[in-house]
Amino acid sequence: NGANVLLLLALGCGVMYAGWLFLISKKPADSPLVKWGSLAIMLLLSTCCVWMTGIQDSNYEFLYLMAIIIATIEYGKREGILLSLASSALILVTDLIMIRDVVINDSFEDDIVLCSVFVIIAYTLGYYVECEKNHINRLEHLVHMDALTELYNYRYFRDMLTHQVGVSASRGTSLALILIDIDHFKQYNDMFGHQMGDTVLQQLGILLKKEAGASYTAARYGGASFSLLMPDTDERGALDKAEKIRLDFEQLHIDREEYLPGGKLTISLGVSVFPENASSEVQLFDSADEALYRAKFLQRNRVESYYSILDAVQRSLHGEHQDTVASIKTLIAVINSRDNYTFTHVERVVTYCKLYAEATHMNEEDKQTLVYGAYMHDIGKINIDQGLLMKTGKLSDEEWEVLKRHPVDGAKVIQNIDSLQAVLPLILQHHERYDGSGYPYGLSGSGINFLARILSVADSFDAMTSNRPYQPRKTYEEAY
Ligand code: GH3
Ligand code: MG
Repeated sequence: NGANVLLLLALGCGVMYAGWLFLISKKPADSPLVKWGSLAIMLLLSTCCVWMTGIQDSNYEFLYLMAIIIATIEYGKREGILLSLASSALILVTDLIMIRDVVINDSFEDDIVLCSVFVIIAYTLGYYVECEKNHINRLEHLVHMDALTELYNYRYFRDMLTHQVGVSASRGTSLALILIDIDHFKQYNDMFGHQMGDTVLQQLGILLKKEAGASYTAARYGGASFSLLMPDTDERGALDKAEKIRLDFEQLHIDREEYLPGGKLTISLGVSVFPENASSEVQLFDSADEALYRAKFLQRNRVESYYSILDAVQRSLHGEHQDTVASIKTLIAVINSRDNYTFTHVERVVTYCKLYAEATHMNEEDKQTLVYGAYMHDIGKINIDQGLLMKTGKLSDEEWEVLKRHPVDGAKVIQNIDSLQAVLPLILQHHERYDGSGYPYGLSGSGINFLARILSVADSFDAMTSNRPYQPRKTYEEAY
C-alpha cells in the first residue's frame, strides 16, 4: 500500500545516502569497527525494506544489490562477496521458514537465481575494483620513486619531510636529517662518463636503502644528492649512522676510483636535528645543508653536524639579552639572504679562527671571543645597500665612506649586551691595520686588540682567496 511504498522510498534514499557518504569521504574508513558496522547497517536497511514490503513476496529484494555494489566499490571483492552471501542467506532462509507448509515453493526458485546474480556481480565488480586499486598503487609507486636508484625521489622526500616534522612536533620526539653528497663527482663523470657515474649512484642507492631499513626514509633528492630521514633519532644516533654510511661507502669498491687524484671516491654528510637545531622543515633542511657545506669546506669525506654559534650564545644567555641575540640572528640571516658570499665567507672566517685558536692552544675564553667576533664581524653591513656590496667597478670616495662605517655600525648593534662586551673591539677593529693604514680609527701595532688582529688576518685571507666581483681569486700560496 501507499504507506509502505513511502517508507520504502525513504529507506532506499537512506541506503543511497549512506553509500554516497562512504564514496565521497576523503579518508576511507580504516577502522574495522566502521567497516563492519557500515556493512551491517546497509544489510539491515535492505532487510527492513524487504520485510516491510511483503517479506518473501516483496518485489524489492534487488535492494540488496545496492548494498553489495557499494560495499564492493568501497571495500573490495572480499567484502562484496561476503555481503552477497549474507544477503543470499537472509533471503533463502526466510523463504524456507515462511513457506514451510507450501508444497511448491515458487519464490525459492526465483530467489536462487537472484542470489546467484548477487554473487556474480560482487565477484566481477570486485575483480575490476581490485585491478583499479593495483593500478593506482603501481602509479603511486612510480610517482614516488627515483628510476635510477630505486630510492624515493624529491617529491616524496619533501612530502615525507613535512609529514615527519608534523609528527615529531606533535609527539615531542626528535627527527634527524642527514644530507649526503658525493665528493668531486663531476670529475668522476668527466673522466669515465655518465654511465659509470650512474653505476656509482646506484651503488650508493643500495647502501642507503640497506641503512634505511624499514624505519627510515632514504631518498635521492637531486642529481648526486641523497638524504636519510630518521624519525625518533637524536643527534648522537644520526652522527653514528652518518659515520657508518661514510665508512661503508669508503669500503665500497668503485670501478676505476684508483685513477682519481685522491685514489678514492668519497662522500660528505651534513646532519641536523629537529627541534634542537631547527623549528620548521625548511630550517631543518637548510641547517643540514649548512652542515654539509661545512663538511665539504673542511676537505670533504667527513660528517659534520649543524652548529650555530648564535644558538649557543642564546642558550648561554639569560633573560633580557635573549631577544637581542635573536635579533642578531635575524640580522645575520638577512645579510646571508642578500649576499651568499657573506654567508659562506663568515662560515670560512669562523673556521679559520677556530683552527688558529686550536693550533696556538688559545685559552677557552679568548677562543670563544674570537669565534663570536668572527661570526658577527660583518653585522654592520646590514646598513649597506646591496648594490654597493656587489659593485664591480671602482668605488667613489663617498661610497668608500659608507663602506668604512660598517665596523662602527656593527659595534652599535651589540654594545648593550653585557656578555658580548669582549667581542666589541673585534668588530670595531677588524679593519685596522698593523701599519696604521686601516679604518675606522687608524690604530697601529699593539694598539689594536690582539684578537682583532687575528680576525683581520683570517678575514683578509678569505677575501683574497675567494672569487669576488671586483678581483680575481688568489691561490692559497699567494695569499699566504
Ligand atoms: P663537490 O665535492 O663539491 O660535491 O663536487 P662535485 O663535483 O660533486 O659537485 P656537485 O655535487 O655540485 O656536482 C654534482 C655532479 O653530479 C654534477 C654532475 O656531473 C653529476 N650528476 C648529477 N646528476 C647526475 C646523474 O643523474 N648521473 C650522473 N652520472 N651524474 C650526475
Ligand atoms: Mg658532489
